[in-house]
Amino acid sequence: MANLVSLHLSSNFNLRSFSVAANSNGVPFTTAPMKSRGPMILEIPVDKIRRPLMRTRSNDPQKVKELMDSIAEIGLQVPIDVLEVDGIYYGFSGCHRYEAHQRLGLPTILCKVRRGTKETLRHHLR
Ligand code: ADP
Repeated sequence: MANLVSLHLSSNFNLRSFSVAANSNGVPFTTAPMKSRGPMILEIPVDKIRRPLMRTRSNDPQKVKELMDSIAEIGLQVPIDVLEVDGIYYGFSGCHRYEAHQRLGLPTILCKVRRGTKETLRHHLR
């Protein structure tokens, strides 16, 4: 079942906003934007982002709480970095922002997505 994700290209990034259809991984169906080699700013479902190193890193609960308050009030101001390999999203940083979204029960999170290969992924997992 196709999800609809918003492609937020805010004025901070000197771009504009529009929506695209996406598959169950949140990967847009449209080919034109994804042909771009540069990073893209996308709203991705929180539960579609794999975090392979999550268990080995512990977040500062106070930081997470402060981010929750701030995000609830003004929204996420800086997207988290996400790697997309073969249609699957991986997050290795932005851990506090990610946890804040989870705890707030937000369905999606603003991500700066760049595409990588399996080798890129292996490099991150090392
Ligand atoms: P993380 O593990 O998510 O990178 P950090 O505490 O290291 O956590 O950094 C928090 C980041 O979240 C900062 O770069 C800050 O600019 C960014 N940020 C984005 N949106 C907000 C917000 N609404 N309130 C506070 N910080 C925010």
